[in-house]
Amino acid sequence: MKKLLDFPYSHVLVLGLAKSGTAAAKLLLDNGIQVRINDMKTEENDSVVVDLRKMGAEVVVGSHPLSVLDDIKLVVKNPGISYDNPIIVEAKKRDIPIITEIEIAYQLAGHSIIGITGSNGKTTTTTLITEILQASKRPVKVAGNIGIVATEVAQTLTEKETLVLELSSFQLQGIEKFRPNIAVLLNIFEAHLDYHKTFANYKQAKCNIFKNQTSDDYLVYNADDDVIVSELKNAKAVLVPFSISKKVEQGAWMDEDFVYFKDEKVISREEIVLVGKHNLENILAAISAAKLNGATNEGIRSVLTSFQGVKHRLQYVGHKLGRLFYNDSKATNLLATQKALSAFDKPVILLAGGLDRGNGFDELAPFLTYVKAMVVFGQTKEKLKQLAENTGVNEVVLANRVEDAVEKAYSLSNEGDIILLSPACASWDQYRTFEERGDMFIQAVHKLV
Ligand code: ADP
Repeated sequence: MKKLLDFPYSHVLVLGLAKSGTAAAKLLLDNGIQVRINDMKTEENDSVVVDLRKMGAEVVVGSHPLSVLDDIKLVVKNPGISYDNPIIVEAKKRDIPIITEIEIAYQLAGHSIIGITGSNGKTTTTTLITEILQASKRPVKVAGNIGIVATEVAQTLTEKETLVLELSSFQLQGIEKFRPNIAVLLNIFEAHLDYHKTFANYKQAKCNIFKNQTSDDYLVYNADDDVIVSELKNAKAVLVPFSISKKVEQGAWMDEDFVYFKDEKVISREEIVLVGKHNLENILAAISAAKLNGATNEGIRSVLTSFQGVKHRLQYVGHKLGRLFYNDSKATNLLATQKALSAFDKPVILLAGGLDRGNGFDELAPFLTYVKAMVVFGQTKEKLKQLAENTGVNEVVLANRVEDAVEKAYSLSNEGDIILLSPACASWDQYRTFEERGDMFIQAVHKLV
């Protein structure tokens, strides 16, 4: 296990336990640093609390008294905790630095890191980069916002290994020296304003990914994203653009038939399994970053000719009885379902519906061109039925849940049709998570005879 060698803080407050806080606290304790932990929700007798106390931590649970900051030299904040939290507000007043565990992971991993951020596409691109590098026999490990605690993986990283790190804006807001050798910036849309308050703050958090980079590093960025391009004046790294719309000299791009890296043909487009224009952006970003880390064209091809998408994100489930099934259960809003519908130019039967957040669905109308039937379910089914009727979708059928929606969709379909679950709604009216809803869809597809 790697040790924290130059960690200049003696008394650290870990704010928020969860997976990443617990891992950070244990790591700091293992390195002989005094740790105080404060968490609002965890109970006194929780086994994690008992364990951490045994390891020597002082643990305060159930409230946020400002006294937890006394003598503290550094706050390690769970990324989900808002900067409005009274402890954070007070820490700022007292000039105590506030970081997230990503900064500690960096202290361990050094800068052999490929960091990936963007408003959308992070998990897909992170997965593609990791798989391409693995297929190219490059030593890598993956962690971060993808659901794997960064400090845990960073401790096990060997000299030769590169850490592929998915980064959220929440994580990036809390960095000091974090410096990935390769940064990937996919896109910046307005998002998470409840947390960041202004678009300017959100943008700045995203752009933190390159703020400490030097001319020895690379910044892979989407040259078609005007927001990103307007921020590049502050970047010191070597710029490596990618573009789905024009040729670029330094990164990945494409024409009608092929995908290129610089002047080199990498793969023909018809060989790529993943569908959707947005996924082409993720692919170009992944090729650029992976190539900079030594990926081979064979490695890239072997992944792109088989990669069917990250689970629940426009994931190709398979074909059955001549119909092609796609699971896009992660599409919990209109924008995501618009992206999914834009990916197809063949007849689609759309399965949609779920939690009613009070919004309308008219913004889906321009994207229904290829939708020949809809099967709708959940709290929003009547609203979606109305949309189908208003936009002239040939058939619309009500279902109870995703499971019977699959059977109904199948009975409406012909050979060659796409059957797509892209609900445009959250799942919580009927399922615990979007993952559970997607799994039900997959199971129902497999049950079809
Ligand atoms: P994230 O990890 O950033 O949430 P994912 O890779 O999990 O992103 O994809 C989530 C959803 O975001 C996809 O189902 C798709 O609707 C949308 N998406 C993915 N990539 C992009 C992209 N490059 N541009 C715009 N939207 C995208």
